[in-house]
Parts: sequence; structure tokens; C-alpha cells
Amino acid sequence: MSFEKVIGQKKAVSILKGYLENNCLEGGYLFTGPGGVGKKLTSLELAKALNCQQDFGDACDNCISCRKITNAQHPDIHVIAKEDDEIKIEDIRNLQREIGFRPYEGKKKLFIIDNAHKLTAEASNALLKVLEEPPKSSLIVLISDKPALLLRTIVSRCKVLKFSALLREEIKGILEDEYSVEKGQAHFLAYFCEGSLGRALRLKDTDIFSRKNIVIDKFILSEKPSIESLSPQNKAEILSGINIAATWFRDIYLSKAGIRESELIHYDRRQEISGFAEVLPYARLNQIIDSLSKAVLYLDQNINTRLLLYELAGSINLR
Ligand SMILES: [Zn+2]
Repeated sequence: MSFEKVIGQKKAVSILKGYLENNCLEGGYLFTGPGGVGKKLTSLELAKALNCQQDFGDACDNCISCRKITNAQHPDIHVIAKEDDEIKIEDIRNLQREIGFRPYEGKKKLFIIDNAHKLTAEASNALLKVLEEPPKSSLIVLISDKPALLLRTIVSRCKVLKFSALLREEIKGILEDEYSVEKGQAHFLAYFCEGSLGRALRLKDTDIFSRKNIVIDKFILSEKPSIESLSPQNKAEILSGINIAATWFRDIYLSKAGIRESELIHYDRRQEISGFAEVLPYARLNQIIDSLSKAVLYLDQNINTRLLLYELAGSINLR
């Protein structure tokens, strides 16, 4: 029962199951929605359901076809995935060639194009031609969290399926039950990652939980703020540090506005947060949030980062 693995996407899954039951899956599909909420997982479960030897509208996860897809070894399932690079015309030419053949051993060929917004203009036009007359034995699934960057003509040739951000409590539950993440850390990750299970899973084995407390203690709450706590030599780390600081002040802001304690990102430090919420006026919090967003902008402009961090420390420090 493999669609059960897809959590928090009842609507998208039930639409797909409907298509499966009516045997009307063909042409192009576009899965959109935030990153890390199960779009790719769903496309692979769909590939299994379509080709499962048990043929019951879902994946048995046991037959040779299901197992080959799980292990990325099925000759009829093609995944084009580029994290940083563009999807080029050659990638789509390969698809064009391949889609002309009948399935080798499965019932339906599936071409999954992850991060489809990375298609170049040339590749998009080539793909458009395929989408105009897709062979009945194939299915093309485009996945994107930035569908606005896709050619409109491509989107209009696809059936669009929207995936939504997961509930934080759902993510927390998955982290605790399936990945044995400790309760406090699971809470932090679930709230920090704003509904993206993929991001939470990527962060769970990093030192983000201890790091966030270092940023709070040494950069925001220390009498002598340490800019080293934001790793000034590494832009990505600085950005992540600024983001952590922003979530800390977000918590104070919302606590002031009366949010429930359980909704705080830094639930592990709820008492300090409610203490600050009592003494810091909104005007000061607005000023701090403004300084944080400016710092992100300046960081992009290759300004002297150490100087930037000294100034930031001066304007957001709470001691
Ligand atoms: Zn199967």
C-alpha cells in the first residue's frame, strides 16, 4: 500500500488514485507545491502503481517491478534530476528518443523531470513538442516548486496537481516515530522547516539544534557578542545564522501577540521568550527584524562581512 507512504497529501493522492482507477493517465502532469513535501516520492509511487504486477491500483512494493523502481533500476522509469544545473536540450532529446519505444518490461513508461523550472528555453520548446502528442504508453511528470518559471504553454499542456505544505505536527510525528529524533529536536526541526519534511530530514543529522542555541547565546544574548558564532568566513553559514536569529525574534514577536507556546520554534527556550516578549516593545522588534533583512541584502552585495556582522550584533543584541 505504497501511496500510504505519502503523508499529508490526501487530495493529490486521491486525485491520482481516481485517475488510476479510471485508467486515464496519459500525457503530461505537473506536480507543484513547496519543496520537500512529497512530490517526487508521489511520482515514484505512481510509477510503481502503474507497473505493479499485482495490478491493484497501488504498489505492492514486493514484486520485481516495484523493487526495481525502488532501487532506480527499472528500464521504463526515467528520472531527470538536476539540483544546480540546467536541464538541457540533450536531456530532452534523449527523452524524445526514448519515449518513441514501447515499454521494455513494464506497462507504462514514466519520465519524471524534477526541478522542471530548470529547463532551458530550447529544452522547454523540445519538451513542448513531446507534450503535444505524447504516446499513450508513456507519462511525463514535471515537478517544480517554482511553476511560475515554466513556459505557460508547457503548464497548459499538463494536468496540474498541487501539493501543500505539511502540518508541523505531522512532520514532528514522522521525525519522532520513524527517525527516532528526540522530542525537543523534532519540535524545533518541524517548526523551523515550515512544513518541508525534506528539509527537516536533511537537517536532522546536522548540528543545527546545538548551533541555533549557540547563535542565540553567543550572538544575541551575550554581553560580548561573538561574530565567530555566525562563521563569518562562510556565507551560507552566516545566512543560516541570520535566519536562526530571525526565528528567535519571530518567536518573541508572536509570543507578544499571544501565540500558543507549543507553536514557538524555540519551544525549548519558551520561558526566556515570554520574558523578552514582556519587556521588548513592538517598535524595537520591528527595528531588529528590519536590521536582519537588511543584513541579508548586504550580504548579497559582497560587503565586508565581518563589519556587517559587528553592526548587526550591535543592533540586535539583547544585553
Ligand atoms: Zn508491485
